[in-house]
Amino acid sequence: MNPAPKPCHPAPESCHPAPESCHPAPESCHPSPKAEDLLLDRTTDIAILGGGLAGSAAAILLARAGRDVLLIERETQPQHKVCGEFLSQEALAYLNLLGLDAAALTTLGAVPIRSVRLAHGTSVSHAQLPFAARSLTRRTLDAHLLQLAEASGARVLRGTRALSLDPTSTGWSIHLESKEASSASAAGQSLTATTALLATGKHDLSKRPRPRGKQPNLVAFKMYFRLSPQQAAALQSHVELILFRGGYAGLQPVEDGVANLCCLVDRTALQRIGGRWPHLLRTMQQDCALLRERLHNATPLLEKPLAIASIPYGYVRPTATDGLWSLGDQAAVIPSFTGDGMSIALHSGSLAAAMLLRGQTPAAFQRQLHDELSTQVALATTLSRGLLWTPTRSLFTAAATLWPTLITTAARTTRISPTALANILQARTTPA
Ligand SMILES: Cc1cc2nc3c(=O)[nH]c(=O)nc-3n(C[C@H](O)[C@H](O)[C@H](O)COP(=O)(O)OP(=O)(O)OC[C@H]3O[C@@H](n4cnc5c(N)ncnc54)[C@H](O)[C@@H]3O)c2cc1C
Repeated sequence: MNPAPKPCHPAPESCHPAPESCHPAPESCHPSPKAEDLLLDRTTDIAILGGGLAGSAAAILLARAGRDVLLIERETQPQHKVCGEFLSQEALAYLNLLGLDAAALTTLGAVPIRSVRLAHGTSVSHAQLPFAARSLTRRTLDAHLLQLAEASGARVLRGTRALSLDPTSTGWSIHLESKEASSASAAGQSLTATTALLATGKHDLSKRPRPRGKQPNLVAFKMYFRLSPQQAAALQSHVELILFRGGYAGLQPVEDGVANLCCLVDRTALQRIGGRWPHLLRTMQQDCALLRERLHNATPLLEKPLAIASIPYGYVRPTATDGLWSLGDQAAVIPSFTGDGMSIALHSGSLAAAMLLRGQTPAAFQRQLHDELSTQVALATTLSRGLLWTPTRSLFTAAATLWPTLITTAARTTRISPTALANILQARTTPA
């Protein structure tokens, strides 16, 4: 069984702003209601655990349909997350459905991504993306989706962690722990819910670990950089996929002229090169001339990288045995190079809301999601393994240099299917 993701020396998913602060935290448009008020009678129709993309998507759609929704998010303030922050065409379609259209994303600072470069050693191949994409920091995106959930009528309880989730004769009992001194009364308390949606992302609740997945030995790091003006201009509108010994990285611009470098490395390969971020950064630049060029005179914007390990890549939940709706990374974990994890999270949240409103069961939901995602996730996992293994990595980069369409084909075939997307968009217009 898979232990909860462990921090890999730097603190996981926390932001340590360096002297030059990177993206000031977006402010909530409403003052946070007190936990005591949100938990008034300690019972709710629908409890959503986790306010990332999957949890917020479900909360928005369920609250809009008039359901009583309580969303529980452990962080008090918006946080940076380990994520490449590449928003695929499908992710953009779901965001539009939730109320974040192209104009709203532009206002938030999202930047267009039109092309992909694949870089390894001194070789670089280039292809247009087969779809329009964007990038935006998770701190900004997640904060706005939570605000949309509140504006749609969901109660959002920030700074409170769900410790456990247990079935009862009438639904669920959820044990909570609050971070905030002001909501001490919520600490150590339980809440009952008729329906529970689990959307805690990479973090497993106690007694609910996900299996290890098919590529579990990767460690992920993320760092923001301010590039030199010349390199920032060269990166504009591009996502760059960088291959190196034992791993791969994505470099792309996000809002405010900042670049996000997010990488995955095999744990053994990381130990072999010294085990720490500076060793990894050096290795990536030694192995890839393009990254060396990009990071010349660049300034890191976080004191330490964000990091996370033990991610169960390749896992797709087959069914729901105990009546729980599992969303996002709790339902399926696709290798990161595809840039499709966010669209899967948004898809699963939207699909769960549509099926719940139609009176369908969590088992039917989980089966449908499994059928929609398993081929895509399996293919992406095979490709991800190939990118890490030296002979296949060299073969792939050589082939991509000759036939750049190979990159576009890989990008297209590892996306959420057009039918699954169309079903969600259609469910929106069909009365429950
Ligand atoms: C290295 C890396 C790069 C990636 N790059 C991309 C990319 O470029 N594009 C892309 O589309 N996808 C990418 N992904 C995948 C993407 O980040 C995830 O698939 C997506 O964030 C999953 O969304 P989620 O809502 O399931 O979980 P999350 O976004 O992780 O949200 C879970 C929420 O639950 C909260 N939470 C956790 N535990 C508790 C608890 N006990 N109680 C209450 N709240 C809790 C957390 O604070 C968090 O806000 C990447 C992933 C990795 C690891």
